Order: sequence, then structure tokens, then C-alpha cells
Amino acid sequence: MDKKCICQETQRHFLNLAFNRLRLEETQRELLLSSFRETRVTIPVTLRHNGENRLHTFQGYRVQHNHARGPFKGGLRFHPDVNMGEIQALAQLMTWKTALVDIPFGGAKGGIAIDPGKLNETELEELTKRFCQKLAPIIGVHDDIPAPDIGTNPQVMAWILDEYSKTHGYRTAVVTGKPVELGGCAGRLEATGHGVAHLTDKAAAEMSLTPEQSRVVIQGFGNVGSHAAITLANKGYKIIALSDVHGGVYSEKGIDISLALAHLHETGALSGLAGTSPVSNDELLELPCEILIPAALEATITCDNADAIQAKLVVEAANMPVTHRANDQLLQRGVVILPDLLANVGGVLASYYEWVQNLQQFPWERELVLSRLEKRLSSTYDTVRDLAQEQQIDMRSAAYELAIKRVERAIRLRGF
Ligand code: NAD
Repeated sequence: MDKKCICQETQRHFLNLAFNRLRLEETQRELLLSSFRETRVTIPVTLRHNGENRLHTFQGYRVQHNHARGPFKGGLRFHPDVNMGEIQALAQLMTWKTALVDIPFGGAKGGIAIDPGKLNETELEELTKRFCQKLAPIIGVHDDIPAPDIGTNPQVMAWILDEYSKTHGYRTAVVTGKPVELGGCAGRLEATGHGVAHLTDKAAAEMSLTPEQSRVVIQGFGNVGSHAAITLANKGYKIIALSDVHGGVYSEKGIDISLALAHLHETGALSGLAGTSPVSNDELLELPCEILIPAALEATITCDNADAIQAKLVVEAANMPVTHRANDQLLQRGVVILPDLLANVGGVLASYYEWVQNLQQFPWERELVLSRLEKRLSSTYDTVRDLAQEQQIDMRSAAYELAIKRVERAIRLRGF
């Protein structure tokens, strides 16, 4: 089965469990599942590098899932595997995340099926701005606010802001995750990874895992994985393995995260990092450790490798890294899973803080952003944990239940 189907099936499975527990009627389920709008566009760009001078077309998507609680909100992904099915599932997940952390947004997701590494900077800017031209009628400060995701970054958000401003005036709040110089939020870049680390530490403490005794393995050393690694290392956790798309590195003694960052910066990959031995991305997931943090792509833990996972705590920094069958296998063995809609919600929470600062034209200091983030994440975690304990269910089921109830109530109150 391809990844797109696995994501949709996984999402549908978790939702159906929650719908059944909440005894929702068929029409309510349909309202909660269906997208408000699904947009697909073709983006033409002339590629001029490597001796080429040829017009190419790329497929772009934006799925606006639900806006009962506020404007659509969600990232833009530039990755070769992007397709409508994947974007639909990720857009839905954004609706549950924003509801879970109780911020006044709905859920959306978008992206372009492209390997951004194959375009030079000028081509990437052209592609992004053309995509923005096509999305301009449906995005907006109070309509739909994109943000970075895999393969996109503050620079891409700056290009979107520039393009959108040409026809709508300078509206910094139309995107979040911008460079700080253009109204970005101090602390936004590290917010998702920082939040992952904060919640990992909280969950580990409840499992009586101390930082000194806990070996951590992280798959994916991009924005989320690297900042989770930095914060966890600062808290005293031993990071024994890291990976990127090219493969992983392992050291039983622990990896110095600042050296790993410097090596990645110099060489473009983690492989060859001094003092480590190579490990494949598949082997890395099965290493002996206390905490495993998948922070790359969807469906990396499936029924094929779930029984080989040795971690006691799995923290879903990535979106949907564990399929529903693997989820059941892990739970049966007593593995605790911090689900994506809770574990990586720090990203959209900081995006909300950025949007608020833009609307008020009043920037906050990084310390204030991160302390508010930690406080809100802690209280969200406590609410989910309390419900899970009260109803004897796992954290994911409790998180979905809380989020769905909030969206369903908003739909009912608004009367559509
Ligand atoms: P990124 O592009 O910055 O980093 C992705 C990392 O994963 C890179 O190290 C890349 O080399 C690695 N990778 C890519 N393909 C891989 C593969 N097949 N096997 C192993 N590693 C692979 O992306 P990011 O922003 O860090 O996002 C990572 C995950 O976190 C995604 O699932 C994303 O949806 C989710 N997420 C991101 C944010 C955010 O604020 N950036 C917020 C919430 C959730």
C-alpha cells in the first residue's frame, strides 16, 4: 500500500474509534470528515540550470479542511511524494491539533510535489511566487494562513508574503514562520522541536525515566528533529542516534549535538560524523533505547517493524509516523505513545503567537514566547493525560476525543 493510502487509513481508523466512543451520528461524522475546499493547481516554471532552459509544470495543492473554530491554518510541504490524499489527511490533522491546543484556528495543509533540492534559489522563488498567485484568492489574514513544513522554511514564507503583498498590501499575518526581520516570531523556528522536547521530558518524568538514564534516538534531523535534540541534550538526555534522508549515525556514548549541526552544515549530511558509526534509517528505529522520536516522514513505524521497536516511549514529532496497526502492536506491549496531534503542536501554537503579534504590531521576546508555549503545552498534556486515565484509554484516543468534541460543538453552535 502506498504512503498516501496508509496515512488516510490510519487517520480514518483513529477518528472512527473516537467517533464511536462519542456516539456521533452519521451526518456529524460526515461534516467532521469532509473538506471545506480542495484546490489543485498546475505551476509552470522555466528551469534554467544544468544547461537546461525548459518549461516544467509542477502540481500544487491546498486542502482547507474545517474552519468552524477560526481561519484555516497549516503548513506548506515541498516534497516529491506530495499528493492530494496525503494533503487531505494532514489538513484534517491540523483541525484536530488547533482544537486540541484550543487556539482559534481551523485546519489546512498544502504543498507542491517537488524535490526542492533540485531547484536553484531563483527557480524556487519563482515556483513559490507562482504558487502564491494561484492560492491568493483563498488565503488571507482571516481566511487561511500557511506556514513552513517539510522542504519549506522562513525564506519560502518571505516570498509568499512578498507576492501576496503585491495585490493585497503589506499583510505580515498572511503567513507564519517568517524571518524575524519580516514580522516572524522570535522562537518560532525552534518552537516545534522545543515543544517536542518539553513534552518528551514531561512524559518521561511520569514514566520515572530520568534524563541521565534515558537513551534517545531521533529519526530526521531537520527543523523539528534538530531542535528537539538540542533541547533534550540541554536537559541532560543522551542522544545516541540521529539520521537524515541519507542515513544515520550512532554512538553508544552519546552524540554531541553542536558537532552534529556543524558537520551537517559543512557537508550537507550527518554521515561521517566523527566518533559515530553508520546506521541505516531502518536499523536506527530498532536500536535499544528508552525514547524514540520519529521526526521525518509519515508511516515509518508499521506492522513490519513495530515489534522490533525497543523504546519504552515513542514521541511522534513527525505527523503520522506510526500506522494504526503498528500503534496497536506498540500499545499491546505497553509502549507509551505521545501522539502527533499533541507532541508536535508547539509549531502551530507558536504560529498562533506570531499571528497575534502581527495583528497587534507588537512583538514579544523569545523568552515570553517559549514560556507561554511551555505553559500551554503542559496544560494541554495534563488535560489529555487526565482524560486518558479517567477513561482508561491511551493518550491518542483521549487527544482525539477532546479535539473532536471542540470542533463538533463549534459546528453545532454556528449552525452549519
Ligand atoms: P525538515 O524538512 O526540516 O526535516 C526533515 C528531516 O527528515 C531531514 O533531516 C531529512 O533529511 C529527513 N528525512 C527526509 N526523508 C527521510 C527519510 N525517508 N528517512 C529518514 N529521514 C528523512 O522538516 P521538519 O519541518 O523538521 O518536519 C519534520 C516532520 O515534523 C514532518 O512530519 C512535519 O510534518 C512535522 N511537523 C513539522 C512542523 C514544523 O514546524 N516544521 C510542525 C509540526 C509537524
